[in-house]
Amino acid sequence: MSGFRIDVNVMRITRITSVVQENPEVKTLYFEDELSSKGEPGQFLMVWIPGVDEVPMSLSSIGPGNSASITVRRVGEATSALHSMKAGDRIGIRGPYGVGFKPIAGRVVLVAGGVGVAPLYPLLIRLKDYGSEVYAIIGFKSREDMVFLDRIIEVLPQSMVTVTTEDGSYGVRGVVTDVLRVKLEEERYDMVYACGPEGMLREVYDLTKMYRVPVQLSLERYIRCGMGVCGSCCLGEYRICRDGPVFSGEQLLKVEDEFGNFKLDRAGRRLPIKR
Ligand SMILES: Cc1cc2nc3c(=O)[nH]c(=O)nc-3n(C[C@H](O)[C@H](O)[C@H](O)COP(=O)(O)OP(=O)(O)OC[C@H]3O[C@@H](n4cnc5c(N)ncnc54)[C@H](O)[C@@H]3O)c2cc1C
Repeated sequence: MSGFRIDVNVMRITRITSVVQENPEVKTLYFEDELSSKGEPGQFLMVWIPGVDEVPMSLSSIGPGNSASITVRRVGEATSALHSMKAGDRIGIRGPYGVGFKPIAGRVVLVAGGVGVAPLYPLLIRLKDYGSEVYAIIGFKSREDMVFLDRIIEVLPQSMVTVTTEDGSYGVRGVVTDVLRVKLEEERYDMVYACGPEGMLREVYDLTKMYRVPVQLSLERYIRCGMGVCGSCCLGEYRICRDGPVFSGEQLLKVEDEFGNFKLDRAGRRLPIKR
């Protein structure tokens, strides 16, 4: 039908086409949805699990065709319900929402913590299309937490990937920011992109500020409406769902007191972030 546009705010019901177990706590759910397949890396969906809840999930693959995916770490009721789903089960989707990563042509570093690697994967594909030189630093607590490494090695030579584990069971013992510090000290980069726990993101931000390298970070807050109305995902003057979830270093300058230090919980209470 010519001129017909589907509104991202209207929930679409779709069936899961396949499920991949990435590790004991992480699964990727594939589905068909035209709007999701046209999303940008870093954008998120509001995913409704019938009878349970509706939660934000980043796009972990975009295309080919109308296909897309989310990669879910099991932490509570909604994510456990998503983990119990099989091909053919139904979920509701709104979005894609928010401001995603802006790819650039240049020398860039991707920094991922845990399941934070999921939204960086479609970004990596986009950066390769731009002809960028990409170095990836991916950190996990332990070997059994590793996700997406196989997919990344398909796109990047192994010499351009460093894996860290906190317990030293794989790759370099330590955390991603140890490696990032050395990279920024040794070489000049045009952009750092990162996604992971907020304490890690704050350290990435502080390092890029010190070495004067532009940065884009994907942040999380408690998201309810996903469309900038309810204010439950505020970070200072920003709403994560509408102004983010991806923010530049310049934007974060204005919320330095709060970023990495405080967040709002489900009831709107201001809580310290553990680092
Ligand atoms: C923009 C964005 C993108 C995200 N992308 C991913 C992703 O790709 N993969 C992934 O595994 N997780 C992602 N998350 C986190 C995911 O939304 C939460 O883990 C999930 O909502 C937890 O729900 P639950 O019922 O299983 O757990 P609960 O027991 O309800 O909560 C566990 C913790 O999850 C967080 N949480 C709960 N509900 C929400 C909510 N509505 N919005 C934000 N945080 C919430 C809270 O910090 C809470 O303490 C993303 C969050 C945001 C904001």
